[in-house]
Amino acid sequence: MKIFYYQTTPTIGGRNSASFNSLFNLLALPTLILLTSTLFSIAGCGPSSNGKTVSINSTEKTSLGKDQRIAIIGGGVAGLSAAYRLNQKGYTNVVVFEKSNRVGGKVSTFFYDGLAYETGAIVVSPHFTDFIKLAREVGIEIKGYPGEFSYFENGDHMSHKQFLNSEFSQWEILTSMVSTYFYSLRHPEIARNGFKDIPEELTLPMNAFLLENPSLVPLARLLEPGFVTFGYGYYNQIPAIYYLKEMHSTVLSMFAEGPETGAYFYFPEGYSTLMQRLASYSDVKTATPVTKVSRNDKGIIKVTTNNETTEFDKLIIATPLDTAVSYLDTSNEEKELFEMIHYYNYYTLVFRASGLPKETISLATNTKPDFVDNLMMFGNPYKDNDVYIAYMQVSVGTSDDKVLHNFIKGVENLGGKVEKSLKLSQWSYFPHVSSSAMKSGYFEKLGSLQGKRNTYYVGSVLGHEFVPTTAAYSINLIDREF
Ligand SMILES: Cc1cc2nc3c(=O)[nH]c(=O)nc-3n(C[C@H](O)[C@H](O)[C@H](O)COP(=O)(O)OP(=O)(O)OC[C@H]3O[C@@H](n4cnc5c(N)ncnc54)[C@H](O)[C@@H]3O)c2cc1C
Repeated sequence: MKIFYYQTTPTIGGRNSASFNSLFNLLALPTLILLTSTLFSIAGCGPSSNGKTVSINSTEKTSLGKDQRIAIIGGGVAGLSAAYRLNQKGYTNVVVFEKSNRVGGKVSTFFYDGLAYETGAIVVSPHFTDFIKLAREVGIEIKGYPGEFSYFENGDHMSHKQFLNSEFSQWEILTSMVSTYFYSLRHPEIARNGFKDIPEELTLPMNAFLLENPSLVPLARLLEPGFVTFGYGYYNQIPAIYYLKEMHSTVLSMFAEGPETGAYFYFPEGYSTLMQRLASYSDVKTATPVTKVSRNDKGIIKVTTNNETTEFDKLIIATPLDTAVSYLDTSNEEKELFEMIHYYNYYTLVFRASGLPKETISLATNTKPDFVDNLMMFGNPYKDNDVYIAYMQVSVGTSDDKVLHNFIKGVENLGGKVEKSLKLSQWSYFPHVSSSAMKSGYFEKLGSLQGKRNTYYVGSVLGHEFVPTTAAYSINLIDREF
């Protein structure tokens, strides 16, 4: 089996920035920027983004009373952004119910020895300007992520050039980037937030899509190990649109920023501080799991928690939709749609170790499903201490003890030793639907339910498994429906 060890940022975006930094080093950045700017101007347009649909000044619906009672279930980014937006629009009677004793969901910072370690989301692509603006608006510091990149193969150091040229020439890579950009221009649904009205070609599994679009192959193949490593599934299964949104976003980031600026942003005080700040604008009840919701014919919604039952006029479901069946009086249509959502079982481990390089190394063993249950990446974010974070995709049903054992074994295989395990986290990662579900109108059906029975749906299954896109989906929904 061919194994690449490549150093990158410990992030979903990071693997791409590794590739793109490499690309830019390789391809002479100024020439590329000049070329692409010229191409943009020939095309008569500039970059757009799938996170830039948030408009703080959009027209408000004033027909609805601002004092109506609105329940939001789930205090992750989807629920908190919806609540924040409602607050901005003057709604006074909004309650967020969060089952955990903290807000943020998959945004989760672990603090150790006074330093922040992200066990969930880490970085923000710089072209999500509205999200960055939102973070700044609520007073959270944001900085360029300091990435350093090099590659190793079977333990031997590999330069960017050797790694990239192992499969494609510089020219093939450059033309593929430009082709990706122009393909996105021809298909605006790639840049648009959400998954509604996706053309059939983009619902094909990625491999089938690439057969139809060979000019995109070099870039897609270079990014494939990263997509797989970060839990976004496999090219032979997952609809192309999921990858194209990220490819488009990464191309834009690099065109816009170049590698010198740091291709991604992060939150030095911890991503969860942003979630806490967003929560501070609303009435958020943590440690309050919703156990039952019943909606009657008169439009009244009764929300039952571990403490009490309260009546509301509107309901926003911001928990993973498939888990809503455990508390919601679901209609057959809701149940059917919720049960079509799939995930990957993903784990992170924060640990102290000896004998490991003080850097971030991703092990893209290959792009086939048989690498599950193996260490995929580890990072030493602060470089001057012995605390690491490691990442692994895990078979469903594996016990936490076995996962920990596999992490420890993975570190040993690299010549290191886990001295102390600090925090093991399990994530239901990347909610998505199949090609056939998407092709048969999954998102249109879900979209048509928005507002029925005074109920709305948000979350990363609708906005894509990224914080800014999930926030944008919630904010857009509030602007549209409230
Ligand atoms: C390891 C990892 C790395 C990631 N890296 C990045 C990254 O670098 N950049 C990026 O943009 N994104 C990243 N992501 C993805 C991003 O974190 C998610 O897309 C986003 O946080 C999803 O938000 P959400 O609100 O849809 O769902 P969640 O975060 O899952 O929130 C749902 C909330 O609902 C609550 N809940 C569930 N049931 C109930 C109930 N019955 N009653 C009350 N509350 C309930 C949960 O406790 C949770 O807080 C990463 C995710 C992980 C796990």
